[in-house]
Amino acid sequence: MSWEDHVVQYRRELHRIPELGFQEHQTREYLWNRLKGLGLESTAVGETGLYADLPGNRPGKVVGVRADMDGLPLSEETGLSFSSEHAGVMHACGHDAHMAIVLGLAERLAQDRDFPGTVRILFQPAEERPPGGALKLIEAGALDGVDEVYGLHVWANLPVGSAGLRAGPMMANADQFTIRIKGVGGHGSQPQATKDAVLIAAQIVVNLQTIISRRVPPFEPAVVTCGTIHGGHTFNIIAETAELTGTVRTFSNACQSLIVEEMQRIAERTAALYDATAELTYEKGYPALINHEGEVAAWEEKLRGLVEIERVEPDMGGEDFAYYLQHKPGAFLFLGCAPPDGQVAPHHSPHFILDERVLPLGVEVLRRAIMPN
Ligand SMILES: [Zn+2]
Ligand SMILES: [Zn+2]
Repeated sequence: MSWEDHVVQYRRELHRIPELGFQEHQTREYLWNRLKGLGLESTAVGETGLYADLPGNRPGKVVGVRADMDGLPLSEETGLSFSSEHAGVMHACGHDAHMAIVLGLAERLAQDRDFPGTVRILFQPAEERPPGGALKLIEAGALDGVDEVYGLHVWANLPVGSAGLRAGPMMANADQFTIRIKGVGGHGSQPQATKDAVLIAAQIVVNLQTIISRRVPPFEPAVVTCGTIHGGHTFNIIAETAELTGTVRTFSNACQSLIVEEMQRIAERTAALYDATAELTYEKGYPALINHEGEVAAWEEKLRGLVEIERVEPDMGGEDFAYYLQHKPGAFLFLGCAPPDGQVAPHHSPHFILDERVLPLGVEVLRRAIMPN
């Protein structure tokens, strides 16, 4: 079989055995053995990560390529013949494709080693949830000596054959928050004796949206989302406590700080208006992913004729590849994986599928990143 066929086989084999973040034991064993089959010795990082060096036949840069490894807590409903064999876990984001593409790249490059420098293969656990696996690899020295680093994400919003790339901000600061409201509970028929935490929670949800509409400058992309609201036990009791959780997405640190300050003020003062209290807990997640201008321009030039480059808008999602780009020059690319008929479920859906033509294409997209102009 050719490497083009192998990359499809790798993806299907990995798709059968999805594992959650930092539990990718079987996945690592698979990757480890495949790299060994290519004559590569891997270095283990933590319980489930690994990296390996593949030297070319002449001197040159050390270039890192990264694939994330984790699946999601979902029960697969695609009906594919190679569906997940692990109950309640699914590769629904496409990380199986990323691993297969990087393995395919290693296989293709190992055939004749006809490239300069060294390719550092980075298999990283746990992208889906902060704190993520990227920092573990970096702390373990996986980026030591690396000159440039590249990564990609298969992208259901783009058709197969096209790619999204942009210099500068590409993905957002992805943070989470909790607001705990403490009032005074009581009988549903005697509101005068209470401080209704559910009412206050509702006011806070509404007031938080004024941060985006009245505090953040109109041309600054930002999102405040309240994802959950919990309070109360039954219909005729006024709730003593309520809890909101949500996420904040921004690109600049200034905007992030502004939103945290405003959230704190709005939560505390809205509660104070009703003689109750509210407490904000804010946890920073992955930092914004900022693509390096020079590497984006060079990669784009090399991809000419291979894929249609779309000048995409920044995505408000989070991605821990951002950490690598804080340490090393490089770029991250969205690689279209939607079938031409556009029938595709979104990432993180139990119906998520991808057009497998993206797999050999992904190998070539990364190979061009590591080849000099
Ligand atoms: Zn995902
Ligand atoms: Zn993903």
